[in-house]
Amino acid sequence: MVRDAPPAFHIMAKPSGAICNLKCAYCFFLEKERLYPDSDFRMSGEVMEEYVSQYIRAQQVPEVTVAWQGGEPTLMGLDFFRRTVEAAAGHAPPGMRIAYTMQTNGILLDDAWCEFLRANHFLIGLSMDGPRELHDANRRDKGGQGTFERVERAARLMQRHQVDFNMLCTVNAANAGHPLEVYRYFRDVLCVEWIQFIPIVERINSDGSTLMQEGDKVTDRSVDPAVWGDFLIAIFDEWVHRDVGKMFVNYFEAAAASWAGVGAAMCITDETCGNALALEHNGDLYACDHFVEPAYLLGNIMETPMRELVASETLRRFGDNKRDSLPRYCRECGVLFACRGECPKNRFALTPDGEPGLNYLCAGYKAWLGHIDPFMRTLTDLLSSGRYADEIMGILREQENDQRKAFAAAGRNDPCPCGSGRKFKHCHGS
Ligand code: SF4
Ligand code: SF4
Repeated sequence: MVRDAPPAFHIMAKPSGAICNLKCAYCFFLEKERLYPDSDFRMSGEVMEEYVSQYIRAQQVPEVTVAWQGGEPTLMGLDFFRRTVEAAAGHAPPGMRIAYTMQTNGILLDDAWCEFLRANHFLIGLSMDGPRELHDANRRDKGGQGTFERVERAARLMQRHQVDFNMLCTVNAANAGHPLEVYRYFRDVLCVEWIQFIPIVERINSDGSTLMQEGDKVTDRSVDPAVWGDFLIAIFDEWVHRDVGKMFVNYFEAAAASWAGVGAAMCITDETCGNALALEHNGDLYACDHFVEPAYLLGNIMETPMRELVASETLRRFGDNKRDSLPRYCRECGVLFACRGECPKNRFALTPDGEPGLNYLCAGYKAWLGHIDPFMRTLTDLLSSGRYADEIMGILREQENDQRKAFAAAGRNDPCPCGSGRKFKHCHGS
């Protein structure tokens, strides 16, 4: 029996394929150019129309997000996106709201772009890795020049035009050791409220490229697992003491959802995959943006209806494999409910007892998720009793004041008031 497509699914469309006006050192997509050797990497009007109409008609929910990504989508020019909005409006049934998102490096944005993005309520993801030296370490143009100034200019321009945007920050070997510099730059200098962090894990293939999700070695640019955990912990600690309700970080929102048991806020924290597909410029539909590889090609929407491809057994197997391939070490892990083994693309490490399939970033997730557990329990208690999440900051201040008083009153040989079980003189009193 052929199963039906799910009532809602998400596709990231790549109208310019892998083509970009920058040459960021860690970009996992630039090499995908090799998959389409004779292509001009421009989505035709015909493919765009077909994509938008099939995608909107396949959704059985009141709001649909049309998402554009790259490569660099702005290379398609503003007129292309004007036509996409017209096409979407033309195909949306009465009562359906269409939301638009676009990920960009910001280089080509100008007043005309911003007026269009604002008028059509686009949500923009602006790629930036933090302050100048940390950003320019990897995000360079084809001439090898850093792009920091141009991206900061794009952020200011969008702010002036009141375009809704958030920061998309990769965490790599260059910036992972500077969590608070990165976070405070976005919060205090750029004055943005939403940050999405993405850990860079580049697997080296047997031919030396990083084209496929193969190989168990990573490039020097990749983030170290323990440093990744420390990065999240440092920013979380600052956030939970002063920014709850004011700053929004994808990993913290996802953790809160996991602790509250309200479902997954990111695909990596979901039990299964298969709900976040990628569409190439020529209509080829892949199981996921991170698996644009021949083995994960579902078909082409110009030949087979998208609904059929999304309902396919191939996609179901791909999705279920995330849950079904977890090693025992994960299945018995205390934070499985919040980690879910993260993304299958990063599962190339061995568990301590030698079973394959452990996530390369496991040590970082274990440390971070263990660290936030008491805070997340307090947050969940607040929300489930009808109180506000930001009340946690006052609770922590009170706890810390009480603890300071207890430290001041503790004798050298008393048990440490922090609850470690050690004597005060060997713990906080040392
Ligand atoms: S493969 Fe990774 S990125 Fe793709 S849907 Fe699954 S968890 Fe998300
Ligand atoms: S923290 Fe490590 S062991 Fe636990 S579920 Fe995540 S990857 Fe698996």
